[in-house]
Amino acid sequence: MWGANLRAILNRKTWDTLRRNCYMLAGNVCEVCGETGRNGRVECHEKWEFDDTHSVQRLAGLLCLCPVCHQVKHIGRAISVAKESAVDLLRILRKLREVNGWDDGQVADHIEAAFKQFNIRSQREWTLDVSWLAANEHMMK
Ligand SMILES: [Zn+2]
Repeated sequence: MWGANLRAILNRKTWDTLRRNCYMLAGNVCEVCGETGRNGRVECHEKWEFDDTHSVQRLAGLLCLCPVCHQVKHIGRAISVAKESAVDLLRILRKLREVNGWDDGQVADHIEAAFKQFNIRSQREWTLDVSWLAANEHMMK
Protein backbone atom coordinates (compact mmCIF):
# COMPACT_ATOMS: atom_id res chain seq x y z
CA MET A 1 0.00 0.00 0.00
CA TRP A 2 1.29 3.46 -0.94
CA GLY A 3 2.43 5.15 2.26
CA ALA A 4 2.77 1.85 4.10
CA ASN A 5 5.43 1.62 6.78
CA LEU A 6 6.77 -1.26 8.79
CA ARG A 7 6.50 0.57 12.08
CA ALA A 8 2.73 0.52 11.69
CA ILE A 9 2.62 -3.11 10.55
CA LEU A 10 4.95 -4.68 13.10
CA ASN A 11 4.71 -4.62 16.86
CA ARG A 12 7.11 -2.28 18.64
CA LYS A 13 9.49 -4.94 19.87
CA THR A 14 9.87 -6.57 16.45
CA TRP A 15 10.40 -3.23 14.76
CA ASP A 16 13.03 -2.20 17.35
CA THR A 17 14.89 -5.47 16.86
CA LEU A 18 14.77 -5.10 13.10
CA ARG A 19 16.07 -1.54 13.05
CA ARG A 20 18.82 -2.22 15.62
CA ASN A 21 20.07 -5.09 13.46
CA CYS A 22 20.01 -2.75 10.49
CA TYR A 23 22.16 -0.23 12.41
CA MET A 24 24.59 -2.95 13.52
CA LEU A 25 25.06 -4.33 10.00
CA ALA A 26 25.88 -0.82 8.78
CA GLY A 27 28.42 -0.30 11.58
CA ASN A 28 26.15 2.30 13.18
CA VAL A 29 26.86 4.91 10.51
CA CYS A 30 24.88 6.25 7.57
CA GLU A 31 25.11 3.96 4.52
CA VAL A 32 24.95 6.98 2.22
CA CYS A 33 27.37 9.51 3.72
CA GLY A 34 29.12 7.61 6.52
CA GLU A 35 28.09 10.13 9.17
CA THR A 36 25.67 10.07 12.09
CA GLY A 37 23.42 12.61 13.70
CA ARG A 38 23.91 14.07 17.16
CA ASN A 39 25.07 11.51 19.74
CA GLY A 40 25.64 8.95 17.01
CA ARG A 41 22.00 8.88 16.02
CA VAL A 42 21.05 6.81 12.98
CA GLU A 43 17.62 5.91 11.64
CA CYS A 44 16.11 3.04 9.71
CA HIS A 45 14.77 3.69 6.23
CA GLU A 46 12.59 1.18 4.42
CA LYS A 47 13.54 0.66 0.80
CA TRP A 48 10.46 0.09 -1.30
CA GLU A 49 10.43 -0.97 -4.94
CA PHE A 50 7.53 -0.07 -7.16
CA ASP A 51 6.16 -2.20 -9.96
CA ASP A 52 4.26 0.50 -11.78
CA THR A 53 2.80 -1.99 -14.26
CA HIS A 54 1.12 -4.12 -11.62
CA SER A 55 0.81 -1.46 -8.90
CA VAL A 56 2.85 -3.50 -6.46
CA GLN A 57 4.92 -1.87 -3.71
CA ARG A 58 7.56 -4.29 -2.50
CA LEU A 59 9.87 -4.01 0.51
CA ALA A 60 13.40 -4.38 -0.83
CA GLY A 61 15.36 -3.98 2.40
CA LEU A 62 16.38 -1.56 5.11
CA LEU A 63 18.90 1.25 5.04
CA CYS A 64 20.74 2.74 8.01
CA LEU A 65 20.78 6.51 7.51
CA CYS A 66 21.83 9.62 9.39
CA PRO A 67 18.84 11.88 10.15
CA VAL A 68 19.67 14.31 7.34
CA CYS A 69 20.02 11.59 4.67
CA HIS A 70 16.74 10.13 5.96
CA GLN A 71 15.09 13.50 5.40
CA VAL A 72 16.60 13.57 1.91
CA LYS A 73 14.82 10.27 1.22
CA HIS A 74 11.57 11.91 2.25
CA ILE A 75 12.23 15.19 0.45
CA GLY A 76 8.57 15.80 -0.28
CA ARG A 77 7.69 15.74 3.40
CA ALA A 78 10.73 17.90 4.19
CA ILE A 79 9.60 20.50 1.68
CA SER A 80 6.02 20.47 2.95
CA VAL A 81 7.14 21.27 6.51
CA ALA A 82 9.85 23.69 5.35
CA LYS A 83 7.73 26.71 6.11
CA GLU A 84 8.55 26.13 9.76
CA SER A 85 12.14 25.02 9.27
CA ALA A 86 13.81 26.58 6.25
CA VAL A 87 17.23 25.97 7.80
CA ASP A 88 16.54 22.23 7.95
CA LEU A 89 15.49 22.24 4.30
CA LEU A 90 18.73 23.98 3.30
CA ARG A 91 20.67 21.34 5.21
CA ILE A 92 18.75 18.58 3.44
CA LEU A 93 19.26 20.09 -0.02
CA ARG A 94 22.97 20.59 0.64
CA LYS A 95 23.27 16.92 1.65
CA LEU A 96 21.40 15.79 -1.46
CA ARG A 97 23.81 17.83 -3.59
CA GLU A 98 26.94 16.64 -1.77
CA VAL A 99 26.28 12.89 -1.59
CA ASN A 100 25.39 12.78 -5.29
CA GLY A 101 28.00 15.27 -6.47
CA TRP A 102 25.24 17.28 -8.16
CA ASP A 103 24.91 20.94 -9.01
CA ASP A 104 21.81 22.94 -8.10
CA GLY A 105 20.20 22.21 -11.47
CA GLN A 106 20.50 18.45 -10.94
CA VAL A 107 19.05 18.78 -7.44
CA ALA A 108 16.09 20.70 -8.85
CA ASP A 109 15.59 18.14 -11.66
CA HIS A 110 15.67 15.29 -9.14
CA ILE A 111 13.09 16.91 -6.87
CA GLU A 112 10.84 17.75 -9.80
CA ALA A 113 11.03 14.16 -11.07
CA ALA A 114 10.38 12.79 -7.57
CA PHE A 115 7.27 14.93 -7.17
CA LYS A 116 5.98 13.89 -10.61
CA GLN A 117 6.47 10.23 -9.75
CA PHE A 118 4.87 10.69 -6.35
CA ASN A 119 1.86 12.34 -7.94
CA ILE A 120 1.44 9.62 -10.56
CA ARG A 121 1.76 6.83 -8.00
CA SER A 122 -0.54 8.56 -5.57
CA GLN A 123 -3.23 8.81 -8.22
CA ARG A 124 -3.02 5.13 -9.03
CA GLU A 125 -2.87 3.85 -5.49
CA TRP A 126 -5.66 5.74 -3.81
CA THR A 127 -9.01 4.27 -4.64
CA LEU A 128 -11.86 6.12 -2.99
CA ASP A 129 -14.97 4.38 -1.74
CA VAL A 130 -17.63 6.98 -1.17
CA SER A 131 -20.57 4.59 -0.86
CA TRP A 132 -21.14 5.84 2.67
CA LEU A 133 -22.27 9.17 1.23
CA ALA A 134 -24.96 7.52 -0.88
CA ALA A 135 -26.09 5.41 2.08
CA ASN A 136 -26.24 8.48 4.33
CA GLU A 137 -27.57 11.02 1.94
CA HIS A 138 -30.10 12.19 4.53
CA MET A 139 -27.24 13.46 6.67
CA MET A 140 -26.19 15.88 3.96
CA LYS A 141 -29.47 17.67 3.79
ZN1 LIG B 1 23.89 10.39 5.83
